[in-house]
Amino acid sequence: MSGRYPDEVDVVIVGSGPAGATYARILSEEAPALTIAMFEVGPTVSQPPGAHVKNIADPGERSRAQTLSEGPHAQESTDRVGGIVKTSQRRARPGTFLLESGYQVEGEDGLPVAAMSSNVGGMAAHWTGACPRPNASERIALLDADGSLDRLLDEGERLLGVTVDAFDSSPYAELVRERLAAAEDAGRVASTHIQRMPLAVHRRGDGNLVWSGSDVVFGDITRSNARFTLWDESRVARVLIEDGRAAGVVVTDRRSGENSEVRARFVVVAADALRTPQLLWASGIRPDALGRYLNDQAQIVFAVRIRDLEPSGEADAPGATGLSEYSGVTWVPFTDAMPFHGQVMQLDASPVALAEDDPAAPGSIVGLGLFCPKDLQSSDRVEFSDVETDGYGMPAMTVHYRLTPRDREVIARGKEEIVRLGKAVGEPLDERPFMMPLGASLHYQGTTRLGASDDGDSVCSPQCEVWGVPGLFVAGNGVIPTATACNPTLTGVALAVNGARAIAAKSAES
Ligand code: FAD
Repeated sequence: MSGRYPDEVDVVIVGSGPAGATYARILSEEAPALTIAMFEVGPTVSQPPGAHVKNIADPGERSRAQTLSEGPHAQESTDRVGGIVKTSQRRARPGTFLLESGYQVEGEDGLPVAAMSSNVGGMAAHWTGACPRPNASERIALLDADGSLDRLLDEGERLLGVTVDAFDSSPYAELVRERLAAAEDAGRVASTHIQRMPLAVHRRGDGNLVWSGSDVVFGDITRSNARFTLWDESRVARVLIEDGRAAGVVVTDRRSGENSEVRARFVVVAADALRTPQLLWASGIRPDALGRYLNDQAQIVFAVRIRDLEPSGEADAPGATGLSEYSGVTWVPFTDAMPFHGQVMQLDASPVALAEDDPAAPGSIVGLGLFCPKDLQSSDRVEFSDVETDGYGMPAMTVHYRLTPRDREVIARGKEEIVRLGKAVGEPLDERPFMMPLGASLHYQGTTRLGASDDGDSVCSPQCEVWGVPGLFVAGNGVIPTATACNPTLTGVALAVNGARAIAAKSAES
């Protein structure tokens, strides 16, 4: 042992969000002889490790868990409400922290609210859990031809504990869906009709909702795997490359400041779509496509009061997890004809505070959100400095990001479509919808994209192994090569299943 870490393992996983947890789970299931060390720069904030903070019943404890996740300058505190406020425009959601600098270059659109989470479980300890499948042009043709994408998505749903019935008791959900369906279903095939949102949530025996985090992805099989260890407050500073292949990592113990080398046959970097390319850069692994094709889903929001509503006595008041359940979560699937991913949800389930709910008719206000796919550009990228460092001492980031004329057209159409959909459900609270500042979706993708060959336009293979660096795998939404509008975590997890199986197969060969 060097410090608190082992000298050598078979597999190192960097990052404990759902992508990293997927590697731990699949390897625990399919290659149980492998020793695995997972390193997470942030602290453990929930139990079991990686659990969603919304499952913490005590509001003070929940708030503390959120604060501890908010990056290198996170302060232990129980008295704050909401996220960090930098300016009236730049707010971070609870449990996340904003990129401090480099988020917007003069003359460009930038990603003013680009954000991250640093905690065991990553952003999925704070997420909304929407897990739609990609559709039409969102899908990855390379993995679609033989049906493997759907099989991987099935696995992703299993690992994330995705259900569609958690909100079936919501009294207004059916009404919202019926009205949206009347306005939208004509011309759609059944699989893209208005429907219940697949969510990473289940209902416990006592009726309470349990939101899936990395704890669900790990599952008991990973937690009881004696060859798996998760080390929190451990920053991976560098991936070691020897003879052209991955050979381990350099880890800094954030408690002692001590640096250690941990050798490994396989290294998986699952450190989110901004910090995965950062770690590769810091390690001198700098393929042309690294950090490029960065894309975020512009997010348009609108609120309406449900029309002609019979007040319902059935719904519960906000429960221990701070969520009332009047209108459930409805999905407007992406199609090539209607190229937006729509999410329609009870106001207080929405990650965006749109308005105060109506105390006279609680649950009568629903928030609509449309996510837009980006017009992918190689010039949209995150760059890293060889000189400046961020709050963790890693290469500082600069985001180059521009909306193209086509992006502006899509956004303008999205604003029309959301008003049409909103008016089908009820009376708008405002005349116009608004677009969230860029970066608000928290769905950054493309920065370590997969591709068919090492042609300079991708970073890794369809199995997520970095071109030209055997044994080094990348994981998370950065691997997704298409312009998705749907929430990407399910797809990111599905791709991680593919990578984990490649490691299981290769380790059996060697
Ligand atoms: P993350 O979950 O971000 O985990 C990466 C981890 O790597 C972090 O814990 C980080 O601390 C760690 N790390 C980074 N660098 C290092 C390093 N050098 N050394 C060690 N560790 C490191 N997605 C959806 O699909 N549906 C939703 O409904 C949805 N809603 C969301 C709502 C909110 C409020 C938030 C915050 C996010 C939401 N998301 C949603 C996004 C979703 O949470 C992410 O897509 C998902 O967590 C990405 O998983 P990941 O494992 O790739 O990265």
